[in-house]
Amino acid sequence: MSKVLIIGAGGVGAVVTHKCAQNPEVFSEIVLASRTLAKCEAIQKQVSRPIEIARVDADHSHEVSALIRRVSPDLVLNVALPYQDLSIMDACLETGVDYLDTANYEPPDEAKFCYKWQWDYQERFQKKGIMALLGCGFDPGVTNVFCAHALKHHFDEIHTVDIMDCNAGDHGQPFATNFNPEINIREVTARGKYYENGNWFETDPLSIHKPFDFPRIGEREMYLMYHEEMESLVKNIPGIKRMRFWMTFGQEYLTHLRVLQNVGMTRIDPVKYQGIDIVPLQFLKALLPEPSSLAEGYTGKTCIGCMIEGIKNGKPLKYYIYNVCDHAECFKEIKAQAISYTTGVPTMIAAMMMLTGKWKGKGVFNVEEFDPDPFMDALNRCGLPWTETFL
Ligand code: NDP
Repeated sequence: MSKVLIIGAGGVGAVVTHKCAQNPEVFSEIVLASRTLAKCEAIQKQVSRPIEIARVDADHSHEVSALIRRVSPDLVLNVALPYQDLSIMDACLETGVDYLDTANYEPPDEAKFCYKWQWDYQERFQKKGIMALLGCGFDPGVTNVFCAHALKHHFDEIHTVDIMDCNAGDHGQPFATNFNPEINIREVTARGKYYENGNWFETDPLSIHKPFDFPRIGEREMYLMYHEEMESLVKNIPGIKRMRFWMTFGQEYLTHLRVLQNVGMTRIDPVKYQGIDIVPLQFLKALLPEPSSLAEGYTGKTCIGCMIEGIKNGKPLKYYIYNVCDHAECFKEIKAQAISYTTGVPTMIAAMMMLTGKWKGKGVFNVEEFDPDPFMDALNRCGLPWTETFL
């Protein structure tokens, strides 16, 4: 029996709230807080049991601390934006409450995301005797657990990992992003990067691509990108030789993105317009559909998984583990689209792991550092069943 404070009432926040509400034996009390109270109210009206809501601007650590003191949660789930990670971690430190998130910190004025800022909290969290679990959505999150599962059950050594993320859905909009537009566009327009033999190699954005035949979807073109889970996985998988991340994009999305970049709409530095500073990407975000609004009528499937090669009993082994999720099924269950769903369900499961003591520790952790077994069981029970194949 535990009380959780969920911060962020967007597409992912709605899923986390619904899924916590479905598991009252663990989440006996739920508080949902966000910058815009109306968004919390809309979710409150949809969930299957009563929840408390509150307004908070999580950019200000003192507001989060005051809220934590008022509601006394056992765990804070941060599903707002990466910009708020450090202010919410500061509030958790001040009040002595455990912390969980889905995306690593990035400063608003620099499109650079890495774990360093949050790993730097290690000593302070240890001293305070509390736990922070970083990056538990699907990727990062489940992809890290898939690697831990492969290492625990199938491989003596893992040599290469290719994380492959395909969204073959159709939301009917000419251009929209499936999670927060600002964070999505910053991620996709960044330079690519992969790890090989102890070094990181940079590539021009989306310049390396190849087709892959995704289960229950078919062939799609996937593009090499940098993604945050690689930073912790290369540290935590002993002997890893190469790690890459791939994501699929449709031609329509890529064409719009190219035009927006060419005209300067993806810039993150302020531009003077009639005497006011405007950040073009923030303005663009205001024009684009909210991720949660894409859910109704969204058709098609996602497939996210890991292709892993290595050694078992002295012999080479190739292994693929993945989940397929259907947009329309997610809408039927909790009025969500599959990207929010595949992110929010693992966040709820990670919270469950922490609150039931299956995953515990003092300090700052990434998910692959814990026993994957109870998490893998919960994925099958909670809506994200996985499949593994030996190739
Ligand atoms: P949305 O834009 O739909 O939602 C973000 C929510 O956070 C909004 O309700 C927003 O409020 C709120 N918020 C923003 N700033 C603040 C603030 N200062 N204080 C309080 N609340 C704030 O995004 P998503 O739900 O799609 O994504 C949420 C997070 O999940 C992102 O960090 C994203 O990177 C991460 N993610 C992780 C994935 C993974 O697999 N690991 C995959 C997909 C997403 P308002 O409405 O007022 O702006």
